[in-house]
Amino acid sequence: MARYLVTGGAGYVGSHLVLALIERGEEVVVLDNLRQGHRAAVPPEARLVVGEVGEPALLREVFSGPRFDAVFHFAALSLVGESMREPLRYCAENVANSLRLAEAAVRAGCRKFVLSSTAALFGDPERVPIDEEARLAPTSAYGESKLMVERGLEWADRVHGLRSACLRYFNAAGADPAGRIGEDHEPETHLIPLAIGAALGTRPPLTVFGADYPTPDGTCIRDYVHVSDLADAHIRVLNLLEERSVRYNLGNGTGYSVRQVIETVERIGGRPVPHSYGPRRAGDPAVLVASSERIRRETGWAPRFGALDDIVRTAWAWHAAHPRGFADRSA
Ligand code: UDP
Repeated sequence: MARYLVTGGAGYVGSHLVLALIERGEEVVVLDNLRQGHRAAVPPEARLVVGEVGEPALLREVFSGPRFDAVFHFAALSLVGESMREPLRYCAENVANSLRLAEAAVRAGCRKFVLSSTAALFGDPERVPIDEEARLAPTSAYGESKLMVERGLEWADRVHGLRSACLRYFNAAGADPAGRIGEDHEPETHLIPLAIGAALGTRPPLTVFGADYPTPDGTCIRDYVHVSDLADAHIRVLNLLEERSVRYNLGNGTGYSVRQVIETVERIGGRPVPHSYGPRRAGDPAVLVASSERIRRETGWAPRFGALDDIVRTAWAWHAAHPRGFADRSA
């Protein structure tokens, strides 16, 4: 049995990794301040420590037990729009917390660090699909903060031998196929939960942000990747970290437009998605699609829920059963 630390393990992607680790019989400690995360998202088999990643005394305590085989770091400020109102807070918190955590890992003799990174590193890309050679040019302070963390981790490798995997997710979506956990953000800004909520009547009608993009139907194209497939990728990179650090782009490699997402939600849910068309949202590139060839080739990763139908089906099941998210879950 291996022992892992998962920061942000009560959040959306982190909790799906925690579940996958617990299912494999691993020992898991979750560190989460529960500002965005949910206590009920953490399975009882995991130990939940409530607190701040950037708190040195807490980090000392968390690392004082038996050595962790790896640290998975999800806890971060992660709203692109908010990061453009508070850029310094985003850079200061995300960078300092992450690098303090890496420092604590080094000090405790932990050799593997997996970072939840983002497609926001690429800003408005020069070409799609976006592979790992694409220019790193964030257009938000959020993306910049993650890029700074990736750079800090390069130094941690060079100087301390801390091997890191930086996984740049495209659009994380969907929910645990067994229906145990799912997406519950406050505020919610993501397309799929907002579209489902509009169809269920638990959220207001959806506003489509722009229908005048240079895409076939005029709406933005994104690469939606299932959250359980993301969790699987985190586990697969661990072996490689015995040897070297890696950076991977993680998506399905297929893009879907906002209109296609709405149509899929309507078909799967059997209800219309009330919506209207509004202006573009600042900073939205027309098309973001990943090339995940490298992680497929080097780890054998492949999405199990690659079809948009599968992603929407699992998300629909979660939201229909838990219209108020974790508040509706009997933990
Ligand atoms: N989107 C939209 N209306 C909404 C939320 C999102 O039209 O209320 C669009 C957004 O412009 C983007 C796509 O849906 O093209 C996915 O947005 P989301 O916020 O889910 O993820 P992002 O691509 O920003 O990471």
